[in-house]
Amino acid sequence: MPEGPEIRREADQIQDALGESAITEIFFKFDHLKPAEKILKGSKLLFVQTVGKGFILHFDCGYSIYGHNQLYGKWMFAPNIPESGRELRLKLKSNGKYALLYSASEIQFLPTEEVPEIPFVKNNSGLDVLNARPSIEETLHYISQKKFQNKSLSALLLDQKFVLGMGNYLRSEVLFLAKIHPDKTIGELSAQKKKALAKYINLVMIQAYEHKGVTNDLARAEKMKNRKFFFEDYRFWAFNRENAPCYICQTSIKRIEKNARRLYFCSKCQRK
Ligand SMILES: [Zn+2]
Repeated sequence: MPEGPEIRREADQIQDALGESAITEIFFKFDHLKPAEKILKGSKLLFVQTVGKGFILHFDCGYSIYGHNQLYGKWMFAPNIPESGRELRLKLKSNGKYALLYSASEIQFLPTEEVPEIPFVKNNSGLDVLNARPSIEETLHYISQKKFQNKSLSALLLDQKFVLGMGNYLRSEVLFLAKIHPDKTIGELSAQKKKALAKYINLVMIQAYEHKGVTNDLARAEKMKNRKFFFEDYRFWAFNRENAPCYICQTSIKRIEKNARRLYFCSKCQRK
């Protein structure tokens, strides 16, 4: 399942494909969205906002398209419509290029000012690292709020009211880099650990976005790539590395279940 950085990269691709030119072709699969075709034709895409794992296309006609891909949705970008076994749900063309959305079940069309009222947007009110680019001090200030102090970090890091777009692999990587045991709460952390947490929430999200999901040390990842390691084997510090030696202390990385999702950590680097 894609996490925030993957969704943000997809949003960049939508922006690149449609550019700043007028929409010349538009198609909605769902009947109730058909009236939107007329409204959007000839308008221009202003920008693509991401809200965690959802995306919102804002147009200069004052309307927006909201979509959530869940598990199946997929965007494709091409000068022609490719053959696909998937069902086309949304087609936009401008600039001679198509942005095509397949299989997504949730698509809404609405006036831009109503976007904050979408239940998904309301429920995903966490810190938006990728769009807002907070400083470490700002993130530290944010995570120091009383409401975040008593929940275990393994649960808190998956909560979209805490940090937007944080998902399962990012959770393991942030905790590993900050050297924090997954059962700890923010309230239990020393000032130094709290700062490390803020630092790696920012850093890991942004690195994953800028380096196609690679959260590992970039020099190490590059070396492993050159030695023909698979992408999934060189991209992480801890995630997906059960029983492999920790890159810092050589202790075997452990895999546990937390909040029904797998979590990887080093019991020596991340002491309870
Ligand atoms: Zn270790």
